[in-house]
Amino acid sequence: MIEGAWSQFVQQRNRKHLGQVVDLRSFLFGSRRKSLDAYRPFLRDLQEGRCFYCERDIKSRADVDHFIPWRQYSLDLGHNFVLAHPGCNSSKSDLLAAEEHLARWTNRNRTRRDELEEGFDQLRVLHDWPKSRQIAHWAYGQADEADRQVWVGARVDLISLSGSWRKILDAACQPVT
Ligand SMILES: [Zn+2]
Repeated sequence: MIEGAWSQFVQQRNRKHLGQVVDLRSFLFGSRRKSLDAYRPFLRDLQEGRCFYCERDIKSRADVDHFIPWRQYSLDLGHNFVLAHPGCNSSKSDLLAAEEHLARWTNRNRTRRDELEEGFDQLRVLHDWPKSRQIAHWAYGQADEADRQVWVGARVDLISLSGSWRKILDAACQPVT
């Protein structure tokens, strides 16, 4: 009862922004968080063995991170995955990444779209780049409105958004030339 009402509430609230990629109820309550281990080799190749956030080599263990935090949008869409040092990942935690990271993320997803989509298909990951971009727009919009600070890096203070996130995400709509 409560689950149904809550799903409906979330769905109505987010429909304008998020559409209906999936049945919200099933991923809010029915589906457990999936193991992301299978995506690691693909992301490691894609990022040439470097951490998405600090761009230093990953020498041992690596974490698959949700760029837009799982707590904010709990659906595993392929373009949202990045590989990071466990230290960078745990420092970022449930925070949104700073605009410099957003620029790197949109650039990767835009310029390497074919390669990414082929990889996601092979890994059988749901993907929808325009939708992922829309979700990012929604998440950064919410943070901006609430004056929530964003994560820059481990051992670096949080900072405020400058507003450039809009431009970054709008540019991500342009086709690659
Ligand atoms: Zn790192």
